[in-house]
Amino acid sequence: MTDYQAPVRQMRFTIEHLADLPEVVALPDFSSVDTDTIEAVLEEAAKFAGGVLAPINWLGDRQGVKVVNDAVVVPQEFSDAYAQFCAGGWPGIASNPEFGGQGLPKTVALACDEMWAAANVAFALCPELSQGAILAMDRHATDELKQAYLEKLVSGQWAGTMCLTEPQAGSDLSTLTTKAEPAGDRYRITGRKIYITWGDHPMAENIIHLVLARLPDAPAGTKGISLFVVPKYKLNADGTPGECNDVFPVSVEHKLGIHASPTCVLAFGDRGGAEGYLVGKPNEGLAAMFTMMNYMRLGVGAQGTGLSERSYQKSVSYARERVQGRAPGVKGQVAIIRHPDVRRMLLLMRSLTQASRAICYYTASCLDRMAHGTDAEAAAKWQARAELMTPIAKAWCTEIGQEVTELGIQVHGGMGYVEETGVAQFYRDARIASIYEGTNGIQAIDLVGRKLLRDGGATVAAFVSEMRSVDAPLANAGEDLAVVRQALARALDELVQCSTHILTGERRDPELVSAAAFDYMMLIGTVIGGWQLARGALVATDQLAAGGDKAFLGTQVVLAQFYAEHVLPRCIAHAAVVRAGSASTMALVADQF
Ligand SMILES: Cc1cc2nc3c(=O)[nH]c(=O)nc-3n(C[C@H](O)[C@H](O)[C@H](O)COP(=O)(O)OP(=O)(O)OC[C@H]3O[C@@H](n4cnc5c(N)ncnc54)[C@H](O)[C@@H]3O)c2cc1C
Repeated sequence: MTDYQAPVRQMRFTIEHLADLPEVVALPDFSSVDTDTIEAVLEEAAKFAGGVLAPINWLGDRQGVKVVNDAVVVPQEFSDAYAQFCAGGWPGIASNPEFGGQGLPKTVALACDEMWAAANVAFALCPELSQGAILAMDRHATDELKQAYLEKLVSGQWAGTMCLTEPQAGSDLSTLTTKAEPAGDRYRITGRKIYITWGDHPMAENIIHLVLARLPDAPAGTKGISLFVVPKYKLNADGTPGECNDVFPVSVEHKLGIHASPTCVLAFGDRGGAEGYLVGKPNEGLAAMFTMMNYMRLGVGAQGTGLSERSYQKSVSYARERVQGRAPGVKGQVAIIRHPDVRRMLLLMRSLTQASRAICYYTASCLDRMAHGTDAEAAAKWQARAELMTPIAKAWCTEIGQEVTELGIQVHGGMGYVEETGVAQFYRDARIASIYEGTNGIQAIDLVGRKLLRDGGATVAAFVSEMRSVDAPLANAGEDLAVVRQALARALDELVQCSTHILTGERRDPELVSAAAFDYMMLIGTVIGGWQLARGALVATDQLAAGGDKAFLGTQVVLAQFYAEHVLPRCIAHAAVVRAGSASTMALVADQF
């Protein structure tokens, strides 16, 4: 099914105006990145996503993966596509040029990540994990390890994984038991990891596992976890993959979605001990792994956006073709796109998708400004903003991914519920994104417990006052944007009041953070989405006045109006839940459930 065309124009508009591209490319590290390069990258990525990855998405879902003789078998078409992906230089577009990467801003690379996920999220997970592993190693590994591994990972010749989860250690990694015993200049790793994405496959020459394990004298809990690199094939003296290391896939999980992504149970050291190398300092592995996890969290948010976009595109084309029912003032039957209720669903899909895209790209832009800024004060501001945005991008955009792909099924009626149209696959594939990389509940608790509370609400307050600065231009924009102005102002007031409520109520009610976190996360995500669509509408209004493209720019205005009328009112409900606190949530004892 070649039914996905990346919305390059919408992406460019978002990168430029809502993710502040001019500020990003003004940073010295990006001095060679010009508009033509970005244009060319997005156009070529769109061709690859639509022409190579999207057509094998359905096949991957049907065929799945299996373990045969200690190895995972994936569809041959996936191996072929991966070879093309690497030949095109896609794995390293945002990686460090020192190791062969192209050093593009994450703000641009994330648009490509959205395309890969939209076209084929099961495939996209493989290079995404490699990128996370590269970043963690680049930041925390010794020069020797970097020299041995990074170039091959950046080129895609080798792939990466992240190995955290064990049966008793999921959201809470403090009980992790995988062991690492010193053995000369290396370590012998033994233990079992579960749910390891792309834990084994034949697409790359070697697989580089980043593994959390405990040293013999490690303190209990999260302060006793270290990070190791464990290659599938040990390296020969010349750096090429040699004999098999002692790490094997035991089985693959049978899942609701992402069937072509092998989710493996991996056995480390069942046959004598897997050789591994310490990354970073002993017992500080969790902090090092956070580099990878935070990277992955934004990527998972972009999976929500990509699948939303794909489901939207398919739903629009179905709604144009499917003829059912009649409409006032029209002779004969009409296509369902004429019905207000179907339009409501399509516009919800489109406006939520665009809000989600803007949130993800903006987060990437905060990361670029944090990592590549030359001014320490500005870099600190962007770091705080990026840390605030990361759980929002992960959790809000994946909740939206579920809502939008579910709406896609509804637009298709019965044809959405049967598998042939493909929209059911988007819904199934989107479901995992709320679970992995830290469940959305845990993300929300991180947002409130760490990002809001740790500085007494200062980061949120600074962001709110920036968001309020669109009020004056909205007022000047006239009647068309009056509804946007009003709804955004109300939503921002709710956000401010809820932030204060949590900041002042947390001591009184120790369960408040966990009880209110999810709705606070949905509230702030919905507000930021509204702010971004308002910014888009303001740019569009200016460009329309200068004679710009009416169809495209007019759509940006309508998206902001629709979102203001149909989505921003949700903030009132989320705020009411936050204010309700934990009393009824905690009222039942466990036996009463
Ligand atoms: C398809 C797939 C791919 C995956 N890929 C990888 C991978 O590549 N590498 C890897 O290491 N792991 C991977 N995982 C594991 C994934 O990250 C975990 O499933 C996830 O972190 C949740 O852990 P858990 O399943 O143990 O759920 P649990 O931790 O048991 O959580 C169950 C429920 O309880 C809630 N909960 C738990 N603790 C708290 C708390 N303190 N406060 C409030 N609520 C709480 C959770 O939010 C959730 O709703 C993958 C999982 C799947 C299904």
